[in-house]
Amino acid sequence: MNIILLGPPGTGKGTIAQFIEKTFGLRQISSGDLLREQVKEKTTIGKKVEPIMKEGKLVPDEIILKLITRKVRQLGKTGFVLDGFPRNLEQAKLLDEMLKKEKIGIDIALEISTDEEVIVKRLSARRQCRKCGKIYGIDIKPEKEGVCDNCGGELFMREDDRPEVIKYRLQLYNERTQPLIDYYLEKEKLKSIDGNMHLEEIFDGVLKLLGNK
Ligand SMILES: [Zn+2]
Repeated sequence: MNIILLGPPGTGKGTIAQFIEKTFGLRQISSGDLLREQVKEKTTIGKKVEPIMKEGKLVPDEIILKLITRKVRQLGKTGFVLDGFPRNLEQAKLLDEMLKKEKIGIDIALEISTDEEVIVKRLSARRQCRKCGKIYGIDIKPEKEGVCDNCGGELFMREDDRPEVIKYRLQLYNERTQPLIDYYLEKEKLKSIDGNMHLEEIFDGVLKLLGNK
């Protein structure tokens, strides 16, 4: 089973993807993580995308698609849950083309539908570990404030979670996502979950939706 997760920033897509990974044995592919990995390892791609990401702008499609293709090939027959890509109709078509070449397809586009005020509240509470990358927020708090439970690393606010950047990201998201939602609806792949609920309830919703697959 191959799944695409759709939803604005701050809907807990990463956490939901991890839940799906654990529960259904799929592998999470996060375009954000793939990019951050490149930045951390100071690869050619990493150096190119670092300033773009710092400004909260969008990294060129070809770069993200290249990283996703590599990952999909690595995974072979293992199913995946893709988070962070596609973000618009053009990217969805590019992704479909690429997957077709790899002889695989998307089974479900899972939309996490969330209100704007809920998103802003969640994102401005979000902190990430500088060392291991673990993300904390309203639903997942560290034992000790500012310190990672996993590795003791320092927690920081990501550049793209600053309020002025959040507003820009949400605006971009809203403009670009509706055609994408329609695209998967037309292909009868779209399923929606109410993202305004508590994380545990969202997990229950995901189980009900995917459980019989
Ligand atoms: Zn950590």
